[in-house]
This record gives sequence, C-alpha cells and structure tokens, in this order.
Amino acid sequence: MNIALIAHDKKKVDIVNFSVAYSTILKNHTLFATGTTGKKISEATGLKIERFQSGPLGGDQQIGARIATNEMDLVIFFRDPLTAQPHEPDISALMRLCDVYQIPLVTNIGGAEVMIRALDAGFFDWRNIQ
Ligand code: PGA
Repeated sequence: MNIALIAHDKKKVDIVNFSVAYSTILKNHTLFATGTTGKKISEATGLKIERFQSGPLGGDQQIGARIATNEMDLVIFFRDPLTAQPHEPDISALMRLCDVYQIPLVTNIGGAEVMIRALDAGFFDWRNIQ
C-alpha cells in the first residue's frame, strides 16, 4: 500500500510517536510524507519515506495529485483543529480528493490506530470487491 503521512506542527510529536509505535507495520508499506513530517518520522524511526514539499509550500497538493493519479491508497493526516493554517485551501482540496477517489483518510491518532490495525489484519481494498 502507498501511505501518505502528514501532521500539522502541533501534531508532529503525535505522528512521530505513532510511527515509532507502528513502525513494524509501516515498514511493510511504501511511505510518503510532507517535508517536515517525513523528516521527523524518518529521523525517529529510520523508515524510508519519499518526502514531498512542506505542506504550506505545496506538499498537500503533491499528495492530492498522487491521489488523482491513483497512486495513493491511504492518507494519515494528523490535523490541528485549534490553529489556523495558512494553507487551509490546500488541506480542504486534499480531503476533497480523498472523497472523490474514495481513499481512506484519518485525521487523528485514534483513527490512525484503527486504520493501521485494520491494515495489519488484512485491509480490504474496496477497488477489488466491486
Ligand atoms: P510539513 O507539512 O510536514 O512540511 O510540516 C504539513 C502541513 O502543515 O500540511
């Protein structure tokens, strides 16, 4: 599976802790991330991650483009709901594309734990059950 990892600044610690906790599952997949998120996760875990631009500089749009070209299977996006983001339009666009292409999206650590455990247990790919 191609998995995108993104976290707003106040959620970076959470996504690093999540990635450390689930690195044995994550390492079996192809990982992508926005710039700073990817740097912090790879430093903490040693996981190989393809990094896009930082979110505010277009990284969310780059991930959206991969969704539009059917190259992303899951999006784990730890959003900060209490801080205004300068790139809010890009964030909305990314979430919209997840819905357009029916790509599973979680926006907090609770959802991410459910998603990663489902993945490990044998994630069903809806594209194969139609
Ligand atoms: P970052 O971008 O990983 O480069 O910080 C995430 C975001 O704010 O969208």
